[in-house]
Amino acid sequence: MRYQDLSYWLSSVDEPLTPRPGLPGDTDADVVIVGAGYTGLWTAYYLAAADPTLRIVVLEKEIAGYGASGRNGGWCSALFPTSLPPLARRHGRDRALAMQRAMHETVREVGRVVAAEGIDCDWRAGGTVVLARTDVQLGRARAAVAEAREHGLADADLVLLDAAEAAARCHAEGVRGGTYTPHCAAVHPAKLVRGLAAAVERRGVRVFERTPVTALRPGAAVTPAGVVRAPVVVRATEGFTPTLPGQRRAVAPVYSLMVATAPLPEATWAEIGLAERETFSDYRHVIIYGQRTADGRLAFGGRGAPYHYGSRVRPDFDREPRVFAALRRVLGELFPVLGPDVPVTHTWGGPLGVARDWAASVGLDRSTGLAWAGGYVGDGVGTSNLAGRTLADLIRGEQTDLTALPWVNHRSPKWEPEPMRWLAVNAGLKVMFSADEAELRTNRPSRRAKTFSHLLGH
Ligand SMILES: Cc1cc2nc3c(=O)[nH]c(=O)nc-3n(C[C@H](O)[C@H](O)[C@H](O)COP(=O)(O)OP(=O)(O)OC[C@H]3O[C@@H](n4cnc5c(N)ncnc54)[C@H](O)[C@@H]3O)c2cc1C
Repeated sequence: MRYQDLSYWLSSVDEPLTPRPGLPGDTDADVVIVGAGYTGLWTAYYLAAADPTLRIVVLEKEIAGYGASGRNGGWCSALFPTSLPPLARRHGRDRALAMQRAMHETVREVGRVVAAEGIDCDWRAGGTVVLARTDVQLGRARAAVAEAREHGLADADLVLLDAAEAAARCHAEGVRGGTYTPHCAAVHPAKLVRGLAAAVERRGVRVFERTPVTALRPGAAVTPAGVVRAPVVVRATEGFTPTLPGQRRAVAPVYSLMVATAPLPEATWAEIGLAERETFSDYRHVIIYGQRTADGRLAFGGRGAPYHYGSRVRPDFDREPRVFAALRRVLGELFPVLGPDVPVTHTWGGPLGVARDWAASVGLDRSTGLAWAGGYVGDGVGTSNLAGRTLADLIRGEQTDLTALPWVNHRSPKWEPEPMRWLAVNAGLKVMFSADEAELRTNRPSRRAKTFSHLLGH
């Protein structure tokens, strides 16, 4: 396998992606971390920064950034998979707001570390514009701002845009309005994760690549090359988690897929906008997301690929020609200037992790020493940094503002056994797609989509 082929991002890093050496044999450590994506590496980073004497080992089955961290849309956002109203219902308004504020701070924190460590990852904190292109979508934009106000956020966090203001940021076809938040940065995701791996190594963390963990148990991570014994074992495997023994129903791997155009001429960008490299989306149900890359491409993605029976994760699931074609079509609908003659040069995808109650969580079971973080759905670029800082506090036994946040030590229920899981996830996707189509036809919000999202708990 050529790692460069996994995403446009991995194809455009300034290094050959040569794997680091694997685990040489049995080893002792203070903390062993399974998975070298953002979650594993941020955890290693903050642990090593807080206590340079800790012996930290990271085990990665391929290379750092092989998973979603090397393939995502590059939104380092303050989005959290559970929105404010359900968070407030479960934990109270103050704790929900504290969680959201911590996410805002997280975007600034990633920017701070990127600068401090000299990680050259095309970081641009241009915020996010979410477009409304129908009356129904406009209603949802208004509701999002009203909801934010009710829960203690201000205009400085999320503001409603009229048609002209929205189009001034992102000139998509038929824009009626939208919302803007400054709490997001566009980033080259693979440069970020590769830069982080180098940063943790500079701090003395040992990263072993091409070292698959075949079992996790209290006190040990087992690999074909040897066992790493450590009192704390961190699972940071997100969408790949179901491939670990005993973890099949912990999260459902759901695929998100992307396309990228060739670099676009300045005249095209003058029509589209995104002058601040704002990340963008719209208020439809089946999520789409895009960013203007530093080298002038449009990288654009969406959900909608099927969930695979038994929570299987396989490289060929990353590529779904039907979804790539749909993404290409939506891109042309949004921006007619991107007609069929504008080449798409890259297509790719990857698994993200969805917990049964749609709730991301981070935690440490003190009785076993087993720690975890994940279930970020499509919001892990920022959230994994908060997870890493929180795990570092938990592992070092510190009680801090971070360890008091409501997602800490939350236990999501397991997904249903098959075939219920397959039926539920794919039915959900279908309802969301047909809701988008029906809304376009009738110009009325879909009740079925609302009911389904309540059933899913988000
Ligand atoms: C196409 C796509 C677009 C996305 N866009 C965005 C976005 O714009 N913004 C956003 O916030 N989020 C986005 N996400 C989600 C985000 O990328 C993830 O939430 C985040 O990268 C998760 O990081 P992680 O370190 O937890 O998991 P991963 O990056 O998936 O890392 C897990 C690592 O564990 C390794 N591993 C797995 N099993 C084992 C084992 N047995 N032994 C050893 N190693 C193992 C894997 O090889 C992998 O490297 C997107 C995801 C995808 C797929």
